[in-house]
Amino acid sequence: MDLSYRDITYCKNVGAKRADILRSELGVHTAMDMLRQYPYKYIDRSKFYHIAELDDEDTYVQIIGEVTEWHTIGIGKAQRLSAMFNDGMHQCELVWFKGVQYVKLQKGIKYLLFGKPSRFDHRFNFVHPELTPWSKVTPEMTQGLEPYYNTTDKMKRVGLNSKAMRIIIADLIPDLRQGVPDTIGADVLQQYKLMSLTEALTNVHFPRDRFAMQNARARLKFEELFYIQLQILRQMKRREQNTGYLIPTVGTRFHSLYRALPFPLTEAQKRVIREIHEDLKSGHQMNRLLQGDVGSGKTLVALLCCLLANDNGYQACIMAPTEILANQHYETLKAFLAPLNKLSAVSHQPSVNIALLTGSTTKKQRVPLHDGLRNGQIDILIGTHALIEDEVQWKNLGLVIVDEQHRFGVAQRAKLWNKNQIPPHVLVMTATPIPRTLAMTVYGDLHVSIIDELPPGRKPVQTIHYSIERRAQVYSFLRQQIEQGRQIYVVYPLIKENEKLDLQDLQNGFNELCEAFPEYRISMVHGQMKAADKDLQMQRFQSGETQILVATTVIEVGVNVPNASVMVIQNAERFGLSQLHQLRGRVGRGADQSYCLLLTRNELTKETRQRIDTMVATNDGFRIAEADLQLRGPGNLEGTQQSGLPFDLHIANLSTDGRLVELARQAAMTILEKDPLLEDEFNRIYKNRLDILRIEAYNWGEIS
Ligand code: ADP
Ligand code: MG
Repeated sequence: MDLSYRDITYCKNVGAKRADILRSELGVHTAMDMLRQYPYKYIDRSKFYHIAELDDEDTYVQIIGEVTEWHTIGIGKAQRLSAMFNDGMHQCELVWFKGVQYVKLQKGIKYLLFGKPSRFDHRFNFVHPELTPWSKVTPEMTQGLEPYYNTTDKMKRVGLNSKAMRIIIADLIPDLRQGVPDTIGADVLQQYKLMSLTEALTNVHFPRDRFAMQNARARLKFEELFYIQLQILRQMKRREQNTGYLIPTVGTRFHSLYRALPFPLTEAQKRVIREIHEDLKSGHQMNRLLQGDVGSGKTLVALLCCLLANDNGYQACIMAPTEILANQHYETLKAFLAPLNKLSAVSHQPSVNIALLTGSTTKKQRVPLHDGLRNGQIDILIGTHALIEDEVQWKNLGLVIVDEQHRFGVAQRAKLWNKNQIPPHVLVMTATPIPRTLAMTVYGDLHVSIIDELPPGRKPVQTIHYSIERRAQVYSFLRQQIEQGRQIYVVYPLIKENEKLDLQDLQNGFNELCEAFPEYRISMVHGQMKAADKDLQMQRFQSGETQILVATTVIEVGVNVPNASVMVIQNAERFGLSQLHQLRGRVGRGADQSYCLLLTRNELTKETRQRIDTMVATNDGFRIAEADLQLRGPGNLEGTQQSGLPFDLHIANLSTDGRLVELARQAAMTILEKDPLLEDEFNRIYKNRLDILRIEAYNWGEIS
């Protein structure tokens, strides 16, 4: 019988109670589901140790020897059993804190000891080791790699520990060896030199040897990544079929702005505009990701794209993650458009009508705004989340640009798309550099354009690390910079759990700076302030009225004050790498040498140390993203949680299995290029498997 149809309840050593737990804790319903619970590690049981050889505290070992003496200490719950174990040359202590009454020891017989040594007073001991009389040791017990399984507290309560899992799975192996239908076609298996599913499942649990274990795992990782790519790419292919508004003409508005620009576009900016325009005139909906390091000039690209839409009779909007940023975009774009609108007042040139809609737009202001959007008088709308509220209706929204996408949920984007019958073109802009393999997965359904060039004349920001004890030195450096006419950001971390404390930190910092720099003016902004106050403070800084801006991370994205040349990051140890990089991107926008000062406490963990060192060593956003991925793993990278993967990863790891991601994508692409909707009989195996995975992901999502 197909193991996919065998109810887990009726598998050996399971039963109704354990089956319930397996279903609710692991989503295991069938024998096949059980075989898909992969070990998280293996212990080599073919190797025996001597006590004298012990040095690594983290791995399990086995030793042959005798128990020479033992005694119990304490009574009742606090009772403890201590025994001495001798391997013929040396001895070590064995300790039991729990279940002492069940430990039966015997002198004069040989035991196999299995456990994890821990160091205590320069000597090794074993807490709760497994002791098996040598006469009961079967050959299987000391053969090869023993698999270990993750379990939960609920599982352990019904005896489902790693060993029990191993026993249940071992019992399924003979039936598995009869062969199970593969989930990957023979041609792909052959091309990528992959094990069959039967071989892979056998060897992932009970490997013949280390080599077979690695091959088994590679095959199962490939399979996971392959189906993720198949799903993502199929969606992309399907969306490519979506009708999109036709935006073919490069018209008057675009040309007049282009001519009026105070600087030439970089080659990279020109290239991405061409790529975007190709999509806009294709007749299909655009879904494109625009990546470019901070300061690479994405805003201008966005504006030119909006004008492409306007020139063809469509409205456009730009969504920003914060009100400050929306305001800033609005002001920036209005300034860019000023010469063009001046011209239109005195000639037949069309104007560009741009408007702002945020949470603090009043009811009264909204009425004409909504009208303007409905009757098409507004060409470009800049805004925050307020943009996707239901009462906002458009005459003909043709292009949606989402800035700093990682702050927006996928669902929110979808809401915007669903408003029209024909979905508008979508351009997602991000300054968070994403490593290639991650981009292929997390943004795998978007086409990618990259601005890989900064405008000319930018000097790389110099990054320096100071421990907080050297504050005086930092202040004298700041004073020197201000005296040269520069401005300074001082940023404090924001920890969501305790906003009050955060504000306290910020207020203290502000007071301290006021004391240290009585001769200068200082602005302060934070998330709890009223929008109008925030604006006022930002404006004072932007206009140069204040020399120092003290802020929480609200300034992280998008703020543009070219004269600010120093970024001081307080408690830099509390920021992630990509956040530090974003913050640093706020300076280095003018002609002057800029600096980023990372202030930390004195003692740092190894990981923090690496983060700070990376920042000091490089300005390259992509190198920083790679380092971030290595340090934190993909789950924690900004931008990944929200985007989500179509299916969970159980064995593959995006930070270490990059090569497999590429191969899997290549394999999936080859299949879809010939058969985009997986309609061929030949590809039925993939279609069916995708259906199953989708149902599983759905059901599992419902439960957890
Ligand atoms: P980001 O990609 O981080 O959003 P911005 O769009 O804010 O970058 O651009 C950063 C700065 O560079 C702005 O002051 C912008 O006017 C300027 N800029 C953009 N393109 C160019 C260019 N081609 N040459 C010179 N300066 C440019
Ligand atoms: Mg920007």
